[in-house]
Amino acid sequence: MKYVYLVGASGSIGTQTLDVIKQNINDFKVVGMSLGHDLELAQKLVEEFKPEIICLREKKDIKLSYSPIIVYGDNGLLEIAKYHKYDNEVFVNALVGISGLNPTVYAIKAGKNIALANKETLVVAGDIIKSLVKEYNVSLTPIDSEHSAILECLTGEDRKDVKRLIITASGGSFRNKRREELIGVTKEDALKHPNWKMGSKITIDSATMMNKGFEVIEAHYLFDMPYEKIDTILHKESIVHSLVEYEDGVIKAAIGSADMRTPIAYALRYPSHSKLLSKPLSLTGLNLSFDELSKKRFPCLEYAYIAAKKGGCYLAVLNAANEAAVWLFLNDYIKFLDIEDIIYNEINNPKYSKIEYNLENVLNLSNSLIKEIKERFVK
Ligand code: MG
Repeated sequence: MKYVYLVGASGSIGTQTLDVIKQNINDFKVVGMSLGHDLELAQKLVEEFKPEIICLREKKDIKLSYSPIIVYGDNGLLEIAKYHKYDNEVFVNALVGISGLNPTVYAIKAGKNIALANKETLVVAGDIIKSLVKEYNVSLTPIDSEHSAILECLTGEDRKDVKRLIITASGGSFRNKRREELIGVTKEDALKHPNWKMGSKITIDSATMMNKGFEVIEAHYLFDMPYEKIDTILHKESIVHSLVEYEDGVIKAAIGSADMRTPIAYALRYPSHSKLLSKPLSLTGLNLSFDELSKKRFPCLEYAYIAAKKGGCYLAVLNAANEAAVWLFLNDYIKFLDIEDIIYNEINNPKYSKIEYNLENVLNLSNSLIKEIKERFVK
């Protein structure tokens, strides 16, 4: 039995995680859960899984048939991360944004194994998280189709035989558009992802390709690979979830339907596979295509490599600029292509090189920069 703490339970990854747990109810017990603004959904999920501790976004009355511990807001997330009662605990971080970083840190310190869907944790604080994972001797498994696929392809292999990791990209909602055609695109267009059903932040990140940039950075930390050994490739079908090329020319790929419940289940059970009711992939008649993923067409991918090369606090700057810009776009303050400009200007600002890289600075810089960029446009 694994004891699960799920933060971000009402979101896209959160509800799919609960679906995986429901399908494997004898193996998992939900002990803690954090919920979003939708109180009706919160009530439904809490009643169904009856966790011991729940965290609500704000102080509101929730009618329940039993009396769990109830905590609130960002501090409440930390209470859930710290809560400790069982031997085999796993902390599933399905939060979106920089607010997901501190809960990961607290959960590691409480000795919980980490199943990570929150991208900011590794993008912004990869070095810090890696050393904490080592210090507290916990495991860190990715909940993302690409990293899950790479983990599959690396399992049982010697990492020094790896020539390169190849991360696939579907191309997002504007993959068939040229750059000139992006000038007038709307958020409604941007939110229509051709292959995956995901939350709005990550769907925009897929359209700009910043999501792929983040995944390159995460892969660097998750698999101890230098950036020179991490490539990306355009693969429109989202069937090959990523690949690993070895020195002898062998390429291993993990393929399957585009269903996030598969990587979620793998992260919860690694290295075992689960019985899942996801749609089986039919191999007959399958057509797969691979093309170059152009950094000219998708400059955000290039910006991620630039920030990664600068290192230190520049990864926090990359993330904060993107988080603020995507929020501004989703709230109609800026146009789609302004997202790129905002990120470009921040990662090329030399003032951030003076800030020392540590957890406190990374968090303060992230929060203040997000606020500052938003205020530039919201009058
Ligand atoms: Mg992904």
